[in-house]
Amino acid sequence: MQDATPTPATDPDFQNDVVRNLICRQARYPDIATPQDWYMALAFTVKDRMLESWAASTKTYAEHHVKVACYLSAEFLIGPQLGCNLLSLGLEDEARAAMRALGQDLDALLALEEEPGLGNGGLGRLAACYLDSLATLEIPAIGYGIRYEFGIFDQDIVDGWQVERTDKWLKMGTPWEIVRPDVSFYVCFGGYTQMQTDAQDRLRVQWIPARQVKGVAYDVPIQGYRVNTCNLLRLWKSEAVESFDFEDFNAGDYYQAVEEKVVSETLSKVLYPNDEPDVGKRLRLAQQYFFVSCSLQDMLRLIDISHTPVAHFAERLAVQLNDTHPSIAVAELMRLLVDERQMAWDDAWSITLNTFAYTNHTLLPEALETWGLPLMQNLLPRLLEIIYEINRRFLEEVRNAFPGDEARVARMSLIDEQGEKKVRMAHLASVGSHAVNGVAALHSELLRQTVLRDFADMYPKRFLNVTNGVTPRRFLMLSNPGLASLLDETLGAGWRSDLTRLEALSDYADDVAFQQDWRAIRLNNKAALAGRISQLVGVRIAPEMMFDIQVKRIHEYKRQHLNALYMICLYRRLVRHPDQQAAPRCFIFGGKAAPGYWMAKLMIRLITGIAEVVNRDPVIGGRMKVVFYPDFNVKNGHLIYPAADLSEQISTAGKEASGTGNMKFMMNGALTIGTLDGANVEIRQQVGGDNFFVFGMTAQQVEALKRTGYRPGDYVQVNDELRDAIDQIAAGRFSRGDKALFAPLLDNLLNYDPFLVLADYADYAACQERVSEAWQDQRQWTQMSILNCARSGIFSSDRAIGEYCQHIWQTQKPAPRL
Ligand SMILES: *Cc1c(COP(=O)(O)O)cnc(C)c1O
Repeated sequence: MQDATPTPATDPDFQNDVVRNLICRQARYPDIATPQDWYMALAFTVKDRMLESWAASTKTYAEHHVKVACYLSAEFLIGPQLGCNLLSLGLEDEARAAMRALGQDLDALLALEEEPGLGNGGLGRLAACYLDSLATLEIPAIGYGIRYEFGIFDQDIVDGWQVERTDKWLKMGTPWEIVRPDVSFYVCFGGYTQMQTDAQDRLRVQWIPARQVKGVAYDVPIQGYRVNTCNLLRLWKSEAVESFDFEDFNAGDYYQAVEEKVVSETLSKVLYPNDEPDVGKRLRLAQQYFFVSCSLQDMLRLIDISHTPVAHFAERLAVQLNDTHPSIAVAELMRLLVDERQMAWDDAWSITLNTFAYTNHTLLPEALETWGLPLMQNLLPRLLEIIYEINRRFLEEVRNAFPGDEARVARMSLIDEQGEKKVRMAHLASVGSHAVNGVAALHSELLRQTVLRDFADMYPKRFLNVTNGVTPRRFLMLSNPGLASLLDETLGAGWRSDLTRLEALSDYADDVAFQQDWRAIRLNNKAALAGRISQLVGVRIAPEMMFDIQVKRIHEYKRQHLNALYMICLYRRLVRHPDQQAAPRCFIFGGKAAPGYWMAKLMIRLITGIAEVVNRDPVIGGRMKVVFYPDFNVKNGHLIYPAADLSEQISTAGKEASGTGNMKFMMNGALTIGTLDGANVEIRQQVGGDNFFVFGMTAQQVEALKRTGYRPGDYVQVNDELRDAIDQIAAGRFSRGDKALFAPLLDNLLNYDPFLVLADYADYAACQERVSEAWQDQRQWTQMSILNCARSGIFSSDRAIGEYCQHIWQTQKPAPRL
């Protein structure tokens, strides 16, 4: 890429094309068009430009016989598309002018867009950031996933509680997808297997399925930033194979036939929450196999049309498994090669191993996927046979490497034989991949030491770390245009293609004039968020307050309740000392709780309960506010991340694999209060201990305390303020007098809590005091803010994707033809 941002050529046809699309594709004319019609017409115009770029890149890829990176993920949380695509194409000014000439306001149209909520949180957003970087770095790549009809639910807050609404992202149609009825595959389920001899008299296994489902490709173009490269996100929608199952129909069982059709069409219906305790197991496994099988069949199709022998599969395709959700791919590729392409087992295994790489995303034992054998046998009988054969050969290898160590064999087996027998998907992924990575330095280290220790012993070279990253296009340029302009003026545009150049900002950290500009931009962002909050929840907050923000999924390990306890403590102090000078703070929360995760929902209720009391207390006035921002998603994130002064990253050490919200905040100039967990460790390393508020136990100390026995009561006994906060909750102070409401939450904190909230409380509160003190010196604070942004460069997803390309996929951008 060039050093300076190439100025895009002006496009004289742009306005004409919008009108033409309004008429020809939206079937409206200007006088009667609604804003939604204009949005669609504009989006089509932008998509057409992207498809020209897509055609050029696909042609280049084909001519160069390049290796393609395939990113398999059950989730892609891509966020709203219009703004980002305009930014990447360099068409924002053009579009603004064209729409103004047509009597429309671009910002109003951008606000209309409903985001495809095809993910739960960090994992799905990571996949989206990686697609953005792949296109920007001009790496040939395809994202493969599921086109859920209903993505993650929309969240309302009613009476202080989370209420879920179905996500209606397809209600008005989406302009961004291209349906490809001709790119479709059949996927088998159920039935049985049998042995047969083929024409060459060889024994072959045949899978006689009970039913088949058809997967149809829906492509979403992913434009690289200011380059003529556009890749695809290919999402599979399930359809019934036939409108009628004729056999059933003829037998008179019309309704059975229709039922089969309904079941088939249900497969891609809904996204499951990732932290729901045990729901829809069968459908979820079916979804995983469905999208994996379609994707691998599609890859074989691409191999075939490029006239590449299947034996060269792994030289042309690298497949990344984003967590274990797609890990059945290891067995499915074996099935396709051995059963369908008649390849010998050893050859097929060598291709499989060279093709796949696996990214682990969690150390939480309850989040490690397993599937019961009866379910696997019933739904995917042929795949289970293949898993047994992989396991048989693998355990032989283990026994050879560690003779006599049967305990190790049992620990490493793909099948968990204790209790109800299960397939361990993380083991399948680790055995079938040539590379296994964690997502932050600490996480990768813990992975080697704990959940995958035996595998790291056996295949030490297989294990590596790739610290996560986020795209600076969406999370800086698009969502913080004020800051982006200041960076351009100060540093030139070079940082846009190489984020590590932000380092040059360090020279300005202490510059009074620059600091003023910096603060003005931040205040502007905060005023915008305050305005939205006032509209949404009716709480008025002064932009001058410290904005202390925790937005992420609501989960015990992320410890929103630790933050809540401190809020109560601060509130009580302010009540007792009305004249005390303290940094005025607004605590802002956002995030969804899995619908079946009761404790997380109760945590939301506690926060809204505290908000009710604090915001209405006249004694408090403007010294403290509490806000729960409803429906946290990518779109709302655009407004929230750039408005934060303080980023809350307070998970129990050893539990957050990486975090990516922490990086988005840092990039936008927030300071972090955090534990030594996930990528926080690396953030602190980059920015320096003086510019990071660290507190709490280390991962080692957490484990040590668990071993010796965690006694929550001990911490309450010696801490009057903590005891007072807990008493206040118990007395119904934040539940309108209802003393029973939070009893389960308190019972948990005081008697079970595996996330050790109370053990970290005192240090957290003390650290928050240091934060308040630091806020009093705005010059010093601003300097720290600037340094945080300056040193966030390595957290660009471009750096992460560079590492995947170099160390795992062996892919690169096609060399220009001479
Ligand atoms: C970045 C992001 C996340 C991940 O946040 P963490 O703080 O890393 O858990 C979740 N949801 C959305 C919408 C995001 O943009």
